[in-house]
Amino acid sequence: PTTLKMEANVLVLGADSVGKSALTVRFLTRRFIGEYGDMEFIYSHSLAMEGREIHVHIWDIPCSQDRVDESSAKEKRVQWADGFILVYSICDRASFNVLRPKVQVIKAAKEALSQEKVPIVIVGNKRDLHHRRVVSSEEGRLLALSMDCEFYEVSAAEAYHGALMVFQGLAERICEAKLAL
Ligand code: GDP
Ligand code: MG
Repeated sequence: PTTLKMEANVLVLGADSVGKSALTVRFLTRRFIGEYGDMEFIYSHSLAMEGREIHVHIWDIPCSQDRVDESSAKEKRVQWADGFILVYSICDRASFNVLRPKVQVIKAAKEALSQEKVPIVIVGNKRDLHHRRVVSSEEGRLLALSMDCEFYEVSAAEAYHGALMVFQGLAERICEAKLAL
């Protein structure tokens, strides 16, 4: 049987220090290192599933470059991406509040060009820090529901499972969308 090879470009966005790099590295290596620096990097990773080989490319951007305004660099990244992971910290209200306008910018840019719904996952990270929680699970779920996005609450520090669900689920949805075209 032949293996279908596919590409999935994933852009990870969110406020400073919410755990974008921690989640990405957790997915890629299954490990939590603790300190990640602030480099711009595109990682590549292969996922094999159900007769498919998905090459996932993950763009983890430095915090200084994650702004809601439209710079041309930002436009380029949004055009490059097939799917988006928007991360906030459950301990950081401001990081949650910036997500709605981000989703709106992404949808305006991507859905203007096609009828297809752009795959977006909203991720509440740092679930292990429950004593410092300021954003409830319900709020996260409602935001995702109202913006027609998927939603997960995870802890990059505690487990591999959440990161796997987020990245693998998104890669699958990107491929479904591409095959449907
Ligand atoms: P980024 O700026 O969004 O890429 O954030 P980083 O991935 O660099 O993480 C920022 C800080 O939060 C680092 O000190 C991480 O160790 C920490 N961190 C990331 N994810 C978690 C998590 O799930 N739980 C806890 N307790 N700390 C985390
Ligand atoms: Mg980072």
